[in-house]
Amino acid sequence: MTTGICFSCVRGSERPLKPKAIEIRQCAPGERTNFFLPLYEDATGSPLQVPFIVARGKKKGPTVGITAAVHGNELNGIKIIQNVLEDLNLEELRGSVLCAPVVNVPGYNLGRRYFSDGVDLNNKFPGKPDGVPAEQYARAFTLTFLPACDYLIDIHTASEGRTNTLYVRADFESPLVRELALMVNPEIILHVRGGDGTLRSAARRRGIPAITLEAGNPSVLQGKMVFEGERGVKNILMHLGMMNGKVELRRTPVICQSSKWIRTTGGGILETKFRLLDRIEKKQLLAQTQDPFGNILQRYYAPSDGIVIGMAANPAAFPGTRFCHLGLVGEPSDELSAEPAVSTAKQPAPKRGRKR
Ligand SMILES: [Zn+2]
Repeated sequence: MTTGICFSCVRGSERPLKPKAIEIRQCAPGERTNFFLPLYEDATGSPLQVPFIVARGKKKGPTVGITAAVHGNELNGIKIIQNVLEDLNLEELRGSVLCAPVVNVPGYNLGRRYFSDGVDLNNKFPGKPDGVPAEQYARAFTLTFLPACDYLIDIHTASEGRTNTLYVRADFESPLVRELALMVNPEIILHVRGGDGTLRSAARRRGIPAITLEAGNPSVLQGKMVFEGERGVKNILMHLGMMNGKVELRRTPVICQSSKWIRTTGGGILETKFRLLDRIEKKQLLAQTQDPFGNILQRYYAPSDGIVIGMAANPAAFPGTRFCHLGLVGEPSDELSAEPAVSTAKQPAPKRGRKR
């Protein structure tokens, strides 16, 4: 079932590279096709080969695009893609699944978040033909991948030094996107419209309903997150009528209309007083910092009620360290009547140097 494919028309010996959209119909119905495409070049002029998979069902239906490792050290999505593909019955599948399991190949090879120029690729979509390296690569990927997609699921994790709940970023005001987000059945759904250089926003600009699935932590494969992510993706395929089976919804996700990272305003060893998914009350003590002698430097209190979406895993804090991703609970339509978006709040710190 695994075959190679020659998209020779994509590149040939032309310079500069001319990206061409993947055409699902070039792949045989009822087969899975694995292939690499040269979307960029390294500094020797050699092609940067990016892996793609088309699982084309025998029956007609939409194409769902699934991407992972846009940030090169976010690995759970690679395994989610592999597990979903393993369980697809291509005789029965209605439509196709188009996967890019490692979008950011240079970052993946180095075990780091950013593209080879140190730039956040997920800030540069849809890219530019004459932009910085990450922008040129983003453009090549966008033009190759997105035209084939009717839906997009972009899988991420927390960034280095932080941990995440299983949550979905989605434009909750779009009925189609809302359906996709609910089918993933995550712990939290955060309403974020997009438009910020993400792959999701590039899809949205093309009218493709898209969600970002945040599944756990970077640089590891986490069985529970992979299992839950896999179930969420399969729920979407079943909901779209592509796959047989019964949608499994095991929880009621908490909807957040907005969120804010709360940052330290001084350095020190950070001790947090909350856990992921905790419900937080306004003015609750969230964290404190200490100097190396154990003296308390500063205390941080919740600026509003909320729920913990993500948090710092590394206790070494500089001024500006993000330590609590606080979601403001409620539907986006509540926005106008709700409290103002949460902001960093600090109550007067005990005097520096005071003994505990
Ligand atoms: Zn990411």
